[in-house]
Amino acid sequence: MAENLMEKLVALCKRRGFIYPGSEIYGGLGGTWDYGPVGSLLKKNLKDLWWKEMVQLRNDIVGVDAAIMMNPKAWEASGHVEAFTDPLVECKICHQRFRADKPEEIALHEKSHKDVRIEWTEPQQFNLLVKSYLGVLEGKQSEIFLRGEITNGVHVNFRNVVDSTRVKIPFGIAQIGKAFRNEITPGNFTFRSREFEQMEVQFYIKPEQNEGKKWFEYWKKNRMDFYLSLGMAKENLRFRDHADNERAHYAKAATDIEYKAPFGWSEFMGIHHRGDWDLSRHQKYSGKDMTYKDPVSGESYIPWDIETSAGVDRSILFLLLDAYTEEEKRIVMKLSPKIAPYKVAVFPLLANKEELVGKAREIYESLRKNFMTAWDDRGNIGKRYLAQDEIGTPWCVTVDFQTLEDGMVTVRDRDTAQQTRVKIGELKDYFVSHLI
Ligand code: ATP
Repeated sequence: MAENLMEKLVALCKRRGFIYPGSEIYGGLGGTWDYGPVGSLLKKNLKDLWWKEMVQLRNDIVGVDAAIMMNPKAWEASGHVEAFTDPLVECKICHQRFRADKPEEIALHEKSHKDVRIEWTEPQQFNLLVKSYLGVLEGKQSEIFLRGEITNGVHVNFRNVVDSTRVKIPFGIAQIGKAFRNEITPGNFTFRSREFEQMEVQFYIKPEQNEGKKWFEYWKKNRMDFYLSLGMAKENLRFRDHADNERAHYAKAATDIEYKAPFGWSEFMGIHHRGDWDLSRHQKYSGKDMTYKDPVSGESYIPWDIETSAGVDRSILFLLLDAYTEEEKRIVMKLSPKIAPYKVAVFPLLANKEELVGKAREIYESLRKNFMTAWDDRGNIGKRYLAQDEIGTPWCVTVDFQTLEDGMVTVRDRDTAQQTRVKIGELKDYFVSHLI
């Protein structure tokens, strides 16, 4: 069932316009995915909600939107040029490469050669940064990297943000954006992609053990609560602390939040205590002062950073898996209304009755000013419900002959399939009250 679930989800994502393979008409490009009309809405809703909770509703976090291309020195400072590597082994029969630290992938490949015993090369370190070139004159072009994580676009602006705003420690800088990694074995749908999006907060605190502990625990709970508030099943989520020998080069402490995916428990976000690693390194490599001067006590120090780093694409994948529900006669994506691509769909009962279409169109035009609203007048009502269920639309509004007499419409609830009559003039408030 578990393997099957992934196949079903991938098929539904393609069929309904959530996610397509990247540049598919050319045979695709490994590890890239394109979000379709429905998927791009879902992704935008998740990012908007995240931004609202992190930036709009908090006094202690501000946002930035830094460039993807950075001065290559930033990547030397961050340690990525030297240490952003995976150990790689090569199959001596077909020369495909795999991560030495992923025994399940090695075992799967060994099976693919059936009875032949594979010999593997010794592990070699492989850098994951994606290279590119800037400049128009060949030979004078400079090599750059597409950012391997969005974190450093924040750290290099620490000074700018402190100097140009009124932030005071403890405070955070939020960012959402693309990252690129030359993953050796992309796979499990969007789980391991070569181009993906991250949403992160770098939260700067006083460099004290107690502060570090306090904020690390605070962000663990805060982030777990966020995913629970989106309706994800508690039993499908867990924390996993990194062992000492597993932590990234910068981390003092690290915990992943994992999801019980069909391919096993898998990380989709991390909470990392990065200490003063990043700011100290940028201070050293840029020669610019990264110390913070406390306006009250006058103390100067390089702050510590507690990072929360979530993958947008992995979050979407796990939200979709968690929402996927098969019932006797339908598939329902039970996505939280807060992130559902469309909030409402409006139908005229019959597409060939002008008075019904006209009224339904009026309601549609009015609702779409406030909510992402779908319109459907194809086929029969039952089929339209099934289509909306598969893209997770929480409510469907039908205009029927009764509507023309009493000014009320039928609102059908996605999860219970129950129908309620609501006055046209009260529809907006009805949906708003359910969305909060
Ligand atoms: P993994 O061990 O799975 O390679 P990681 O520990 O390297 O992941 P981080 O560097 O902590 O990941 O990145 C933070 C988040 O960015 C991850 O939790 C994940 O959601 C997302 N992410 C990282 N690599 C990828 C990828 N190749 N494809 C999609 N999302 C990714």
